[in-house]
Amino acid sequence: MAMFESLTKRLEGIFQNLEGRGRLTEEDVNSALREVRIALIEADVNLKVARQFVDRVKEKAIGADVMGSLSPAQQVLSIVHDELVEVLGGTGESNKLDTNGNPTIIMLVGLQGSGKTTSAAKLANYLRKQNGSRPLLVAADMYRPAAVNQLKTLGKQIQVPVYSEPMGSDPVDICVHSLDYAREQACNVIILDTAGRLNIDERMMQEVVNIRERVRPHEVLLVADAMTGQEAVRVAKDFNDAVSLTGMVLTKMDGDARGGAALSIRTVTSVPVKFMALGEKLDAIQPFYPDRLAQRILG
Ligand code: GDP
Repeated sequence: MAMFESLTKRLEGIFQNLEGRGRLTEEDVNSALREVRIALIEADVNLKVARQFVDRVKEKAIGADVMGSLSPAQQVLSIVHDELVEVLGGTGESNKLDTNGNPTIIMLVGLQGSGKTTSAAKLANYLRKQNGSRPLLVAADMYRPAAVNQLKTLGKQIQVPVYSEPMGSDPVDICVHSLDYAREQACNVIILDTAGRLNIDERMMQEVVNIRERVRPHEVLLVADAMTGQEAVRVAKDFNDAVSLTGMVLTKMDGDARGGAALSIRTVTSVPVKFMALGEKLDAIQPFYPDRLAQRILG
């Protein structure tokens, strides 16, 4: 992205004067790591997380064998890249969605405007197309009157049934009733679109906690707007403390956000990002690949 100078370029700049000198001094490594830290902060990584991350990279960089085929800049970048991938979940299973339930119940939580309702539909569309699942969307947001209609319209577009009840119904009841409806309709994935508010408040959290306890979802995914950067970390922490998240959907990654929030969230809460949303269209969602995000953060 043009507004940032890529880390690759910056490190090349720093190491340019060292060509032919053979060995890296600690000072060289330190100035490279300063650039790494700045790049992380520009990518919206939280200050403390950036500092911790750089410390880990430093340990590895100082102990690393000098590889003849790589320039010093490439070598530092490769260590940073590998470390980013590892912190973001590596190639393990932690970033994968659990779809083993019968039915699988996926509950989406998040603040208003984060892209929750859109993500519910995108996820249904994705699971229908990729896994041959039969999803049911459940409109459990009783605070934003338009949310129910929005979900119905989206459901129609992707040919996925939507379960709803009249405004004023109890969101916990709606979710519980939807389980019977899913059985009648032979749906094997239930996606609950719960209420979003502008700010986290106790009543909202209590409602999500109640739904979680009654319905026992396999996945509780926080939908968070990547553009909100540092704020997303605080939101993730609050939701995780209250409802124990199993994962995240990071939205609006089609914008300028570099996705550093994913690194902060993973470090601070251990909650893995499971999906990234990259646009308003209903197919603009993809599973999370640590490697791709690492590339994006490095620029
Ligand atoms: P909710 O209040 O959390 O349910 O949010 P909505 O699903 O209604 O989304 C809020 C706005 O963000 C809508 O205009 C969506 O079209 C838009 N939106 C959602 N996800 C994305 C995304 O990944 N990229 C972009 N650019 N816009 C998105």
